[in-house]
Amino acid sequence: MKLFLRNSILSVLGHFKKITNGIHILNSHYISKENIPKEVFFELLSLFSKQADFINIEEAVKAIKEKTHQNQKLIAFTFDDGFEECYTKIAPVLKEFKTNAAFFINPAFIDADNEYKNYFLNNIVHTPHKNPMTWEMIKELHSQGFVIGNHTYNHLKLVGLDSDKLNRQIILSKQYIEQKLNAPCNYFAWTYGGLKDIDNAALTLALQSHPYVFSSDNYTHYFSYNNKVLNRRHIEGNWPLSHVVYFLSKPKTY
Ligand SMILES: [Zn+2]
Repeated sequence: MKLFLRNSILSVLGHFKKITNGIHILNSHYISKENIPKEVFFELLSLFSKQADFINIEEAVKAIKEKTHQNQKLIAFTFDDGFEECYTKIAPVLKEFKTNAAFFINPAFIDADNEYKNYFLNNIVHTPHKNPMTWEMIKELHSQGFVIGNHTYNHLKLVGLDSDKLNRQIILSKQYIEQKLNAPCNYFAWTYGGLKDIDNAALTLALQSHPYVFSSDNYTHYFSYNNKVLNRRHIEGNWPLSHVVYFLSKPKTY
């Protein structure tokens, strides 16, 4: 199985288009929807590293805002939903490549009892074979230089919610993460990530409370909403690699 995956990655990347200059922020959730070994992720990063350099997410955001590093090929990583493999597989590989990632988490999923965990996995994020990270794992990643961001309290879609619900999903969720980490939580990625998956009230509250707000849409442009939202490119390790190749060969525009 591992050999097959490796060979299929290699064969697709044999036709790799050129990665374009600029900073590419990737948005994923896991290596694969199934539980596959971290070596598959290592192989992918090895192949990327032949054409591009990896950049810490904080540096990537700064470079995009200041329009620097435009003549380099740079890739930064983000992962949503806080699955256990962020700690057990993804972070160790990123460390081997001397880079980090932002992990966007849902506190209610971290705190879930078995019943809510199964509901969340089956009905909200549709990944029945996963588990959440624990707070201990998240604190350790944070102490190692990974960014921990807010992905709402329990992964509601931020459209049409009343102010109490918005406050819980955006503000209280941020404050809870800050209390757990004893550090500011400055990064927010809204659920589902599309520009249509957030309404004005929610976007306003997110921008008021978090310096860095991310979508997962409109990826050929660095920004949306008057330069206030940073666009990421949604990919997963289990998608056809032609999707990844296509993205990385697309020029980015301000
Ligand atoms: Zn999510």
